[in-house]
Amino acid sequence: MRIGRFLTEKGPVFGLIEGDIVYALEGDPFAGLVQAGEQLGSVQTLRLLPPVQPSKIVCVGRNYAAHAAEHSAPVPEEPMLFLKPPSALVGHGEAILIPPDIGRVEHEAELAVIMGRQAHRVERQDALSYALGYTCANDISARDFQKKDGQWGRAKGFDTFCPLGPWIVTGLDPSDLSIDCRVNGEQRQSARTSEMVFDVSALIAFISRVMTLLPGDVILTGTPAGVGPLTAGDTVEVEIEGVGVLRNPVQSGPAWVG
Ligand code: ZN
Repeated sequence: MRIGRFLTEKGPVFGLIEGDIVYALEGDPFAGLVQAGEQLGSVQTLRLLPPVQPSKIVCVGRNYAAHAAEHSAPVPEEPMLFLKPPSALVGHGEAILIPPDIGRVEHEAELAVIMGRQAHRVERQDALSYALGYTCANDISARDFQKKDGQWGRAKGFDTFCPLGPWIVTGLDPSDLSIDCRVNGEQRQSARTSEMVFDVSALIAFISRVMTLLPGDVILTGTPAGVGPLTAGDTVEVEIEGVGVLRNPVQSGPAWVG
């Protein structure tokens, strides 16, 4: 099942996507039973919003060994957690706004887990049952600030620095999916989720022992090797097998200073 959030005349609504057609979703996707209601239109023409409004976006650093190596950083012994603010979210097709004076900014293609149920200290063997589904994410990162600050709140927290979507796919096994990133059609990242240091089950179990995960919360599971720069005028795509393509144009945003 594919579930998206769409902007309609009545405001944002969840939609069930069947082929090219979007139907208003009757029921609460976080309460289980959902069925297709009135037809909203074509997925090509409706405006897609970020598929959820999370209380938090929990991210995992250096969760692919080859990416840790390209930053000359060790693979962590435990998942390395940080947060991005929900205000950083943009949906499929929305612009990533890069302040022109913040130095190098890079893409990070990531598998995103969308939590379906409250998860507090869950066991690894049960962990996947707490996920509603999966989507694509791009953990946009200002590298110069990341190095300078010693922690990543500013570097990864700018408005628009968390493209998410295009929609949530349920019933997907996240353990071995291809994950790719292209900039202006040129391949930058290409890996499989089976290369994660800590798999999705381990991440949900670990994070839920730190903070209670709420329905709609998002986990960004780390990026593979091949991260590279983005500049205004680029188009960046994250593609995950079984999910689809998250595409965002890059534009120049308001200056950091001034
Ligand atoms: Zn990341």
